[in-house]
Amino acid sequence: MIIRLKHDVNDEDMYKTVTRLTELADEVNAKIHYRTVFGEELPVIAVKGNTRNLIHSKERLEQLEPVQEIIAIADSFKLASRKYRDNTRIVTVNGIEIGNGRLCTIAGPCAVESEEQIVRSARDARDAGADMLRGGAYKPRTSPYSFQGLKEEGLKLLKQAKQESGLPIVTEITDQRNIGLYLDYDVDVFQVGTRNCQNYDLLNALAEDLKGTDKAVLYKRGFATPLEEYIQGAEYLLSGDMQNVILCLRGIKGIDQKYTRNTIDTGDVSVLTKECNLPIVYDVSHAPGHRDLVYSTGLGAIGHGAHGLIIEAHPSPEDALSDGPQSLYSHKNGDKDGLARVIDDCRQFYDLRRRITEQ
Ligand code: PEP
Ligand code: MN
Repeated sequence: MIIRLKHDVNDEDMYKTVTRLTELADEVNAKIHYRTVFGEELPVIAVKGNTRNLIHSKERLEQLEPVQEIIAIADSFKLASRKYRDNTRIVTVNGIEIGNGRLCTIAGPCAVESEEQIVRSARDARDAGADMLRGGAYKPRTSPYSFQGLKEEGLKLLKQAKQESGLPIVTEITDQRNIGLYLDYDVDVFQVGTRNCQNYDLLNALAEDLKGTDKAVLYKRGFATPLEEYIQGAEYLLSGDMQNVILCLRGIKGIDQKYTRNTIDTGDVSVLTKECNLPIVYDVSHAPGHRDLVYSTGLGAIGHGAHGLIIEAHPSPEDALSDGPQSLYSHKNGDKDGLARVIDDCRQFYDLRRRITEQ
């Protein structure tokens, strides 16, 4: 960290600043060394050591009268960074690996609606070649009048669908008080939805309760969260010792909502694979918001390096209680609006991409 002082500072100002610097470092247990440089034009204090903790005191330092600006050199995240670990972490869920040589696919309806619907969705997803079943039991909806999910009954039905299909379960957790309940119903992957991307209490609680288990967190990007802040959210989980973290991009708010529900941020997969060592799943349903754009969004995400796709699919999308227009037909074969074709083609493209980019 470099602290640049105003050009006319004197010895007393310098003394005042280093005193405050050491006080703040002590407060956050940061072991630091500093050197004062009294150049004519540029009086600075160069700070070395554990400055990461100190970054959080930046604003307080900036308020000191002699300080002109603070230049942080430490990165805002560490454990998630490629600089810390240069290969993609592989997350394993019930023997299925995400982040390696095989495309991982997670499919199922937006919400669990009934026993018949979720069991049929699970069988269709398995038959179409999906690796995991998705389905929301607790649904965070924009309107309080929309279907809010079957809640605990939904978790019970997901467990039943898992037993009948053999597919592990991915479902959204909206409240940390329910983590124990989700564990009782044997949920495999805890999805953190876009609205909770920066709910740090939820992230801390997930890390605390799931670390050391075989559970994983599918961590979605907030619809208006810059990538750096998003990676810092993942850092909450990693620094809380929760290692099984899968990133999930799902589109962001943009200037046009007429043709797509969100701005499709597949290009950001490339940025994340460059900066970050976590596996990445792309949500091909919520980004475009329309069934006919799911296929190309999937190919695009894979082109940019995604390791998996999450795909909404319903036995009868016209009757779905949420997100029907973006859901594929779970049972349809052959067509691009059917789940099996999308999974097959995306898998082939994934294999091709790996062959041509890794040789
Ligand atoms: C979902 O997966 O159904 C969902 C609500 O996703 P998001 O949080 O990305 O909107
Ligand atoms: Mn949905």
